[in-house]
Amino acid sequence: MTLQKVILYYGFAPVADPAAVVLWQRTLCDSLGLKGRILVSPHGINGTVGGEMEAVKKYVRATKQYPGFGKIDFKWSEGQGDEFPRLSVKARKELVAFTTPDDVIVGIDGVENGGIHLKPAQVNELVATRGDDVVFFDGRNAFEARIGKFKNAVVPDVRTSHDFISEIESGKYDHLKDKPIVTYCTGGVRCEILSAVMLNRGFSEVYQIEGGIVRYGEKFKDAGLWEGSLYIFDKRMVMNFSHDAVTIGECDECGGATSSFYNCHNPECRHLALVCDSCAQNPQSFACTGSHDSVRTSGEVG
Ligand SMILES: [Zn+2]
Ligand SMILES: [Zn+2]
Repeated sequence: MTLQKVILYYGFAPVADPAAVVLWQRTLCDSLGLKGRILVSPHGINGTVGGEMEAVKKYVRATKQYPGFGKIDFKWSEGQGDEFPRLSVKARKELVAFTTPDDVIVGIDGVENGGIHLKPAQVNELVATRGDDVVFFDGRNAFEARIGKFKNAVVPDVRTSHDFISEIESGKYDHLKDKPIVTYCTGGVRCEILSAVMLNRGFSEVYQIEGGIVRYGEKFKDAGLWEGSLYIFDKRMVMNFSHDAVTIGECDECGGATSSFYNCHNPECRHLALVCDSCAQNPQSFACTGSHDSVRTSGEVG
């Protein structure tokens, strides 16, 4: 089989006619045999697609032609060709479901009122100069942080991105308003919104990691401030940056160490069970229970 690749990317730029971009993207992916998920909104594009390397390269070249998409940082990873069951290209009100499209101002160069972008090395420099004052703030759904997060990070109690606004406005984090806050998420898209949301609500010094955990992990692997595995929104589910990745996840059943998520056996339920190899032998470990309230995603791409 030819070499298979997966890309993850987002770009903020005004899109006057999202429906037209959806049609274009769908036709483009179909013609190249790519599968995956792409969201288009009046604020830009967010996607993850996989296929043969040459086809993915053609997709990237074509997508960069759209005004404002030329700056997109495409994050590449190895694939098997079966990461996505189908192609889904949709228009949405928001790229990330925060239910707050008015919080961000988007221009041709991207989000104009978000947190300052730090390259991975600058994240470490900030921590070296400001020490324990620096607060890492997880911009993902809480379940994702069960298997990996920045050391000592604050993990907000959110099941989906919908919950972020009420969580930020709850007052729980008001004591952090004067501290340097580094928001982080998988590839960076959620922090473009989250950092603006926080700045708009009185947090004074908010940063975001350029390229998210993906770029940080590529740079520092497991020798930096990141700890554990990365949850990803395709069939692979979990990605490690090196063989030195520590296992911080704890099995739902026995508390043993694990980084393996499994779908709840109830097809109506979107819960992901975190289960160790040994408990995975027992089908009971995947039975639906009343405690399954942690909705997996509200359509996050990465
Ligand atoms: Zn177990
Ligand atoms: Zn369930």
